[in-house]
Amino acid sequence: MNTLEREASYFFNTYKRIPLEIDHGDGVYLYSKDGTRYLDMFAGLAVNALGYAHPRVLRAIQEQSRKYIHLSNYYLQDPQIKLAELLIKYSGYSKLFFTNSGTEAIEGAIKISRRWGIKNGKNEIISFSNAFHGRTMGALSLMDRPKYRDGFEPFLENCRVVEFNNIDNLRKAVSHKTVAVVLEFIQGEGGICPATPEFVEALASLKKQFGFLVVADEIQSGLGRTGKFFGFQNFNINPDIVVIAKPLGGGLPLGAILGNEIVADVLDAGSHGTTFGGNSVACAAGIAVMEELMERGVMTNAEKVGRYFKSMLLKLQEEFPAIVREVRGYGLMIGIDLHRNADPIVTAMRERKILINGTADTVLRFLPPLIINEQHIDETVSSLQEIFLSYK
Ligand code: PLP
Repeated sequence: MNTLEREASYFFNTYKRIPLEIDHGDGVYLYSKDGTRYLDMFAGLAVNALGYAHPRVLRAIQEQSRKYIHLSNYYLQDPQIKLAELLIKYSGYSKLFFTNSGTEAIEGAIKISRRWGIKNGKNEIISFSNAFHGRTMGALSLMDRPKYRDGFEPFLENCRVVEFNNIDNLRKAVSHKTVAVVLEFIQGEGGICPATPEFVEALASLKKQFGFLVVADEIQSGLGRTGKFFGFQNFNINPDIVVIAKPLGGGLPLGAILGNEIVADVLDAGSHGTTFGGNSVACAAGIAVMEELMERGVMTNAEKVGRYFKSMLLKLQEEFPAIVREVRGYGLMIGIDLHRNADPIVTAMRERKILINGTADTVLRFLPPLIINEQHIDETVSSLQEIFLSYK
């Protein structure tokens, strides 16, 4: 049996694997077992912000592994404390909790919201159509796409999904019973769909009126991806709870829930916990990620290269209006919505040794390492241009 056949015989049938066997990665490149080099423009789905084999991440992992890999959260752990200090410093939030995945962070945010709501007589959570918050039952309760939910009912009670970017429907949906509104300010899996500034403005004013929490899902858009520390900073709003994950652990599983003063005292000892969340090696890698992002210019690079990338893609849209419907996104979280299915173009790009991702049927999604430069962008755009020309 070849590797694909072995996979099919051993695993539950959940992943559509790319027919490519990777040997190793280095910087912005992945190398297949036959030695071919690929430019990686989706970076392990927004995880590998510093690319592959980043020396500071490798060193941090090595040094911490020698001391201890795991202790349990009964112990104080230096890497957790130092990473927490950096996150609090750069986010401006008051408290945090480390998780081992994005969906675990969403679950924790739901729990914090519910507990805060019980004290305040509120119990309804509102979220939006086309969102993606993870695969656990709480996360699925905040989503509407049948692709993710079908057959997994029943979901959590008192959760209601409202049409994204529809201000009238949002106004009708919120009330004094609303405990939290959970959203991705830039929907990732849904096709790089940003909230409109007017929608966020309406949300901020309803929050003032009804006193609910706003929970920002920054799992994909957070930590410099959009050229700002959080994706919501591209808008005018201050969420109460923020969840992050993907790039935080430098490729190791790590997420976090951040909360402001309003929710700072909601949890008490024993009310929430995790075995693997805040793993010391993951946190040590996270310190390297945070320092590179914030102190060595990686986030600034994402902003600069992202602006260049978007301008080049907008030119491409002008050249190929029959193929490109829209270019959307912020920083290095960019989508090209096509008038056709994205899959053949993803394949054609792979044949040109560039790895991109297709999502929401018609969207080419770009989530490259935040360390890429203009030359990598030029390479990507000219390959897209070649492919689009062949469709003319
Ligand atoms: N929320 C968003 C916006 C995501 O993009 C993802 C993952 O793609 C998740 C939540 C779930 O994170 P995880 O796969 O780490 O559980």
